[in-house]
Amino acid sequence: MARYDYQCSSCGNVQEESHLMSGPTEIIKCNKCKSKKMEKIISAPYVRFDGPGWQTNDSRGIAKPTGGSDMDSSGFR
Ligand SMILES: [Zn+2]
Repeated sequence: MARYDYQCSSCGNVQEESHLMSGPTEIIKCNKCKSKKMEKIISAPYVRFDGPGWQTNDSRGIAKPTGGSDMDSSGFR
């Protein structure tokens, strides 16, 4: 049994779903708006997705978004 967080791309509702790893892919429905556009939220400790501009550098391993971001100046790593 594994648990995943899903976020609805229609209304932004986040809900937790648990299902078997070996089972067939289930269609997750939003509890609020019944939308099937649920995106799995991956909470990996070492990988961060900062939107469409993210890229990984092999030599440093730090993802730097190409868009304007003040994450470095804020000291949040
Ligand atoms: Zn929804």
